[in-house]
Amino acid sequence: MNHPESVWIDCLKILSTKINPVSYKAWFEKTKQLSLKDSELIILTETQFVADWLAQNYASIITKTAETVTGKTLNISIAYRINEHKQFEIISLNNEPIEDKPFDENTTLNPRYNFESFVVGDFNCLAYTAAIAIAEAPGKTRYNPLYVYGGVGLGKTHLLQAIGNFIRVNKPEKVVRYISSERFTDRFVKSLMNKSTGRFKEYFRRSDVLLVDDVQFFTGKETIQNEFFHIFNALHQRGQQIVLTSDVPPSQIKGLEKRLCSRFEWGLLVDLQAPEYESRVAILRQKAESDGFEIPDDVLSYIAQNVTSNIRELEGSLIRLLAYSSIQGREISLDLAIDIIQRNIPDFQSRIKDINLNDIMNVVSQHIGISPELIRSRKRTKQIAVARQIGMYLARKFTNLSLSHIGKFFGDRDHATVVHACKVIPTKSGEVARLIEKIESSLFHLE
Ligand code: ADP
Ligand code: MG
Repeated sequence: MNHPESVWIDCLKILSTKINPVSYKAWFEKTKQLSLKDSELIILTETQFVADWLAQNYASIITKTAETVTGKTLNISIAYRINEHKQFEIISLNNEPIEDKPFDENTTLNPRYNFESFVVGDFNCLAYTAAIAIAEAPGKTRYNPLYVYGGVGLGKTHLLQAIGNFIRVNKPEKVVRYISSERFTDRFVKSLMNKSTGRFKEYFRRSDVLLVDDVQFFTGKETIQNEFFHIFNALHQRGQQIVLTSDVPPSQIKGLEKRLCSRFEWGLLVDLQAPEYESRVAILRQKAESDGFEIPDDVLSYIAQNVTSNIRELEGSLIRLLAYSSIQGREISLDLAIDIIQRNIPDFQSRIKDINLNDIMNVVSQHIGISPELIRSRKRTKQIAVARQIGMYLARKFTNLSLSHIGKFFGDRDHATVVHACKVIPTKSGEVARLIEKIESSLFHLE
């Protein structure tokens, strides 16, 4: 049991490790324990301003820390002097803090999502640049709101939280709020039930930077949209920064009110594409390094060649690779990577059985408009060479045949030619990349 007089001192010790040093110095350093009686803890601050700030922004963490220190839930108030005669005004910290548990993914910034760990390539460069501009000068750019959209696992949440984390570190005086639209909805419904919608609104209106993740989930919820509309306007009018993410552009969110849609389009819309080959390698390399693993280049490029959909999948493959290697005591090698990737792609094996070299040749020949004979010939015009390389690459990807077998089939080439094709084809972008995608889909009869 702690000494009652030192409860707040113990709390401060913990708080100083949880709150960034600048904020801690500004708000906590000069606070003192005024009294602790019957589970009533009163903390003294120097000014009303500090007291208000603590109540509004740190209620949750203060309450939880005091609970950790004393092992029970205390009623906590913040006091400040109103005159020299030891007269105090007291603000009670709400017993039901509006901020959530510190590790609630839906409302708390994850420090892992920062700009340093965000790999930048052609696929996300515009979104990244806009995000940095905003993080450096929130509310002061023309990008208000910034609206970032793209498919799952492409880095929307990461980028959104990186903005928040950057501002928290570099401009600690700014109130940053991050919330997913689902959590926003939950909270609003709860506040209706508790008759505390006033506090709900106040909470969001008191932000300098509001980051809302996955706004597509606002669809069809009229009251929520209405509520968000007013918060949006209030913030926007005061020049506070708003950043939104979604899987699609505003105009494609079904059931989104017109007026909200048009506001979402006021600032800058940027999309996140799937990363191209080089970026996929860079992302894998960065993840491996940050986890302290050395992974051979051929393994990284194999994963990057085969896992193309999104960054979450890339991470997933890497995690599986590391897990298998440690569970099975196998070295991290191309062999292991092939095992894992093939296990990962749904019915990959059964598809492979169906695909043979002739299928590949025919599909390539049809799509590019060059006959199989020409593809097999010694001719080296650019188009023929590309067609041949695509064929080799697909054969390597979708059959279990050896390099030399594939080389022979495509006009008696040696295995090094196939290796070369497998290296260059996945790095293509633009028209050729789209062409390859098309060929792959028709190979699997997906069209
Ligand atoms: P989304 O919100 O678009 O579904 P996330 O932001 O959750 O995607 O990203 C999925 C995973 O990929 C996260 O672990 C994230 O850290 C990682 N990630 C996304 N983009 C990048 C990037 N550019 N560089 C490094 N990691 C990234
Ligand atoms: Mg997300």
